[in-house]
Amino acid sequence: YNRYVDPTAVRQPQGDSNRQVMPPPPPPPPTALPAPVLQNNQSNNTDSSTNKLEESGGAKHIDPKLIEMITSEIMELNLTTTWTDIAGLTDAKRSITEIVVWPMQRPDIFTGLRRPPKGLLLFGPPGTGKTLIGKCIASQSKATFFCVSSSSLTSKWHGESEKLVRALFAVARSRQPAVIFIDEVDSLLQERSENEDESTRRIKTEFLVQIDGASTQGEERLLLIGATNRPQELDSAARRRFVKRIYIPLPDLSARQAIISNLLKDQKHTLVDSDMEHICTLADGFSGADMHSLCHDAALGPIRDIHDIELLSSEEVRGISVEDFLKSLKAIRPSVSESDLKQYEDWNKTYGSM
Ligand code: ADP
Repeated sequence: YNRYVDPTAVRQPQGDSNRQVMPPPPPPPPTALPAPVLQNNQSNNTDSSTNKLEESGGAKHIDPKLIEMITSEIMELNLTTTWTDIAGLTDAKRSITEIVVWPMQRPDIFTGLRRPPKGLLLFGPPGTGKTLIGKCIASQSKATFFCVSSSSLTSKWHGESEKLVRALFAVARSRQPAVIFIDEVDSLLQERSENEDESTRRIKTEFLVQIDGASTQGEERLLLIGATNRPQELDSAARRRFVKRIYIPLPDLSARQAIISNLLKDQKHTLVDSDMEHICTLADGFSGADMHSLCHDAALGPIRDIHDIELLSSEEVRGISVEDFLKSLKAIRPSVSESDLKQYEDWNKTYGSM
């Protein structure tokens, strides 16, 4: 008879409240140890996630090493990110909630015409909150979050990458609802180039196969999020698979104010609202990550005045002032250029969903 062995059952991290409850597996044969291997010829017909795994070709022998690596390094459980942690981006947050979060929460309502897309692309300048959004989607949908960067797939796991991609989707399927977040997805799914080597090509093919497997399995609660700072490098095959493409722009003035006031809320400082507004106006063009760097630098201002740090009591450290910020604004510059911004806006007009 067919039997399924849960690939992640062996190494169960603490506090795993998102773990999907599986139907109890049939008893193992007397000599078998619970091996972290999915076996093609052993599947329990009552276990729908196993059947899906097999249909997608993901149930071939999976190296336990890879499964362990995925559960310990790529998988994150019990995320607590909320939309309020992400400043600005009101329209993007609203659409994302409607397009993917609600369907993951209520798959029974979002069927047929309302069925959600399986692929979501978040594109825009670096440091604007794409990864935060990925985490927030997973946390709000109570989904297991798998976060992997393309560069680590192609460099660190070179040689094993193709297998890793297959294992990643297999583990994600066994832990639905799940969100797979691929950072720098452009380097994985870029336009084919002259110097593309054989292994890169194979990873890319495997990836497309897995995405297609995910999109044909209507009832699966698996969302693939690609994030990129270089959307123009994605080829058309990749673009097509990310049905929804959402622009994550630089924070506007009020979002920059929200970031700064949030970062200062637990700090000793002397800034009033009008100072924050002034600083944020001067910080036009800063990304969310740039705003963080600015605040970190300004927070060191009071320390820079001190001659002997060893003799100082912590209460004596003066509050961060508007002058500290003005000095830091000379040192910290926006990381995104005007010409880059224009490219994102153009790409958004042509391919964006909002
Ligand atoms: P991206 O994935 O777009 O490159 P991240 O989501 O990794 O950017 O953001 C980098 C850091 O910048 C975050 O950890 C956060 O500290 C800060 N940040 C970026 N955008 C925002 C935002 N909209 N609101 C609050 N913090 C932000």
